[in-house]
Amino acid sequence: MSLISTASAQATQSNPTESPPFITRERLEPLLVVITAFAIGTSLALEASGASEGLILVVNIISYLAGGYYGVIEGLHSLKHREINVDLLMVLAAGGAALVNQWHEGAILLFLFSLSNVLQAYALDRSRRAIQSLLDLRPDTATVRRGDTTITLAVDALKPGDVVVLQPGELVPIDGRVIKGSGTVNQASITGESIPVLKQVGDDVFAATLNEHGALDIEVTRPASESTLSRIIKLVEEAQDNRAETQRFLDTFEQYYAMIVIAATLLLIALPPILTNVNFSDNFYRAMVVLVVASPCALIISTPASILSAIANGARRGILFKGGAHLETMAQIKVVALDKTGTLTTGEPGVTDIITTSSLDEDSLLQLVASVESRSEHPLAQSIVRAAHKRQLTIEEPSEFKAIPGRGLEAIYHGQRVLVGSRHLLENDGIAIPDELYKQQVTLEDQGKTVLYAWRDHVLGLIGMADTARPEAVALVADLHKVGVEKVVMLTGDNARAAASIAQATGIDEYCADLLPENKVEKLKELRDKYGAVAMVGDGVNDAPALATATIGIAMGAAGTDVALETADVVLMSSELNKIPYAIALSKRAQRVVWQNIAFSLSVIVVLVTAALLPIIELPLPIGVVGHEGSTLIVVANGLRLLVFKPN
Ligand code: ADP
Ligand code: MG
Repeated sequence: MSLISTASAQATQSNPTESPPFITRERLEPLLVVITAFAIGTSLALEASGASEGLILVVNIISYLAGGYYGVIEGLHSLKHREINVDLLMVLAAGGAALVNQWHEGAILLFLFSLSNVLQAYALDRSRRAIQSLLDLRPDTATVRRGDTTITLAVDALKPGDVVVLQPGELVPIDGRVIKGSGTVNQASITGESIPVLKQVGDDVFAATLNEHGALDIEVTRPASESTLSRIIKLVEEAQDNRAETQRFLDTFEQYYAMIVIAATLLLIALPPILTNVNFSDNFYRAMVVLVVASPCALIISTPASILSAIANGARRGILFKGGAHLETMAQIKVVALDKTGTLTTGEPGVTDIITTSSLDEDSLLQLVASVESRSEHPLAQSIVRAAHKRQLTIEEPSEFKAIPGRGLEAIYHGQRVLVGSRHLLENDGIAIPDELYKQQVTLEDQGKTVLYAWRDHVLGLIGMADTARPEAVALVADLHKVGVEKVVMLTGDNARAAASIAQATGIDEYCADLLPENKVEKLKELRDKYGAVAMVGDGVNDAPALATATIGIAMGAAGTDVALETADVVLMSSELNKIPYAIALSKRAQRVVWQNIAFSLSVIVVLVTAALLPIIELPLPIGVVGHEGSTLIVVANGLRLLVFKPN
């Protein structure tokens, strides 16, 4: 259908530096609509004043050319692909009306059809602009430090390594890392979180977020074109091409349906004059009315109008659906599985216990472990590094490093092999755990703590860490049940005792502990077979296989992490767990609006076709067109309501 191709054509030309050609469809189409209306009015006036037929014909032809211009282009375009679309049906109907000398009726049809296309494109454009408007939040220039002075540069000219100076109250122009100063930054535009986040040296900041109070120096980490913001916008625009299942069905349906309508119209033209003695031209006119009112315009737009609005709604709250298909599947979710560390918990566990075997003291053990962990992205690793910083220990990166997902890591540090991780990691390597250490492990785990062993040549000791459940995790389970999720399950690679304590704190329905990444995958398959659609929520860094296995993979806290943006189907920019029930509620509402629209469009078609066929009613073409285009606009407006949807 014409306006969908317009929408995606506009999406691809979103590069702000390229100025669009002067005559665009956006500008020309409304103008043609006005010309059509004007020509129709002139023609009626000429007719009333008894002007010559030749002159009236010229004006009528003008109204057809202006009103049918884009219809013909779109119709021919679809014919080239051996398809029939509604534009073609409309052009045929208008042509038919002219054949039986009903020029005005045909022109009114073209006028209303193109007017409705303009209105639809405008309405759908609102969803798109809701996303594009995010870009307006980004300033165009930045203050850059050069030696002792500062200069103002265009944001597009900034390169990684440049140092941008930010005053309190300024918007962050580009993705970067704080190298001086500290202060709170409101990241709502990227993550949807309303509470400002404290940023200190070493923290990442994102373009289009608001630096509230602090004076910050940030080092640019990515060029403007690759900023998190730009990628969000790109993802959402691509999402429009990843069509919902319902829409794919409707697209196929449209083809067959259009052919049936054409066949039925031909029969309506041919049969009655053969069977009875009806007036050919009256009968032909009626066939044209049927052709128009039976056309599935409203049906075709019913889905994209709703899906696009829902995707835009999510994007503004930091929820990115990477396609209409995922939005639809989200509405079916029966089970939500969550990773523990960093997802259900804050992922900032404090180091609570350091137990060494005699050869090392506590600080040396922590210094060693923090050094090898400094290369790891795992939340446990970052906490250990923080603990070492607090004790002012110097951290030296290992010369070699390998993460072993779900177990720990292996590194070469000062020429020696070092292992840090769970008991399984050591046992897998044939290393026996001394009995008294194992007893300590059990004691710590009974307190709900996570225990890591360190090994270099022999077992050096262990580190106990305590993680806490996110405060909003408690409401999560109830909220998920409320939106129709049957089971909320925690999957963790951590020990059963730590898992049990978090499960208890959050009231989660079920938990599985001691899972390696591949066990998580198996478990998800089990859940999928047993319950149906399963969503897996993780950080997207070390859960990629699980996210890929689940019916829907949801990556959380994704601002700044590239992997998460790639692997997941739905991306939550912040780590707020309440975004999960919101996303499910939104998708359910979208589903409902889609079905409302489909039911409504079909009913209108049935009513209008009946009215056109019943001899006692004899629906006039202009009324049929108003009903037909009116229903199309109602469907679009209903879809737009999703832009402002808020779950209660
Ligand atoms: P979760 O499923 O809770 O997110 P992971 O699967 O990421 O946990 O990790 C499981 C276990 O593997 C951790 O509890 C820890 O014992 C060990 N582990 C994973 N990564 C590391 C690391 N970088 N350093 C030390 N131990 C690790
Ligand atoms: Mg994890």
